[in-house]
Amino acid sequence: MQALTTLGAAIGQFFYPHVCAGCGSDKLGQDSALCWYCLDELPATGFAEQRDNPAEKILKGRLPFDAAHAGFYLSRDSLMKQLIYQFKYKRQVALGEQLGLLLGEQLKKSDCFKPEALVPVPLHPKKLRQRGYNQAAIIANGMAKLLQVPVIEQVLIRKSFSGSQTLLGRMGRWENSRSLFSIKHPHRLRNKRLLLVDDVLTTGATLESCGLQLMTIPGVSISIATACISSL
Ligand SMILES: [Zn+2]
Repeated sequence: MQALTTLGAAIGQFFYPHVCAGCGSDKLGQDSALCWYCLDELPATGFAEQRDNPAEKILKGRLPFDAAHAGFYLSRDSLMKQLIYQFKYKRQVALGEQLGLLLGEQLKKSDCFKPEALVPVPLHPKKLRQRGYNQAAIIANGMAKLLQVPVIEQVLIRKSFSGSQTLLGRMGRWENSRSLFSIKHPHRLRNKRLLLVDDVLTTGATLESCGLQLMTIPGVSISIATACISSL
């Protein structure tokens, strides 16, 4: 029986090779998308334990939040860049969930993040149809396994129509991005500590507009976590 199982695994590996999403090596565990070498190479920021960290500096003064964290540095031509590409454009969903688990591990060690619900940044419905999944929700699902809190996707909604951005002036674009999101069923999040989750923190504009919408729900407080922080 053991021999048959091993043979089955070997045949599976031949037709559907389970290889590392970072380097292509086959030296990885069955439940991991990354080999030990790549896991060790991930550039963790350590922000979860630091207040006034670079993620908080980007968002400071733009929305009220308790704490913000970004798990890994994302720089050009890096391993992390390759992983985010594989996750977003090559359907490597298991990899995204693993990044969420790693992010959850980082947050669990910190006293500043005690969320009662995870809220992923919603994807535009058209992009959701094209990609088939919302990357922020996949990351949140990975985090939820570790943090043991629910992922709530039905409250913060991305409107499907945003108009042509190019025809609008700067103020118009800003107004437009503020109104890209709306709230449904606010009672589901009322009086909760929320963690807003996204894949990459760059300018913070999307997180800002999502956070401002969530703050319209009575009694909520917000923290923010992204898998990566991108240098512009
Ligand atoms: Zn690897």
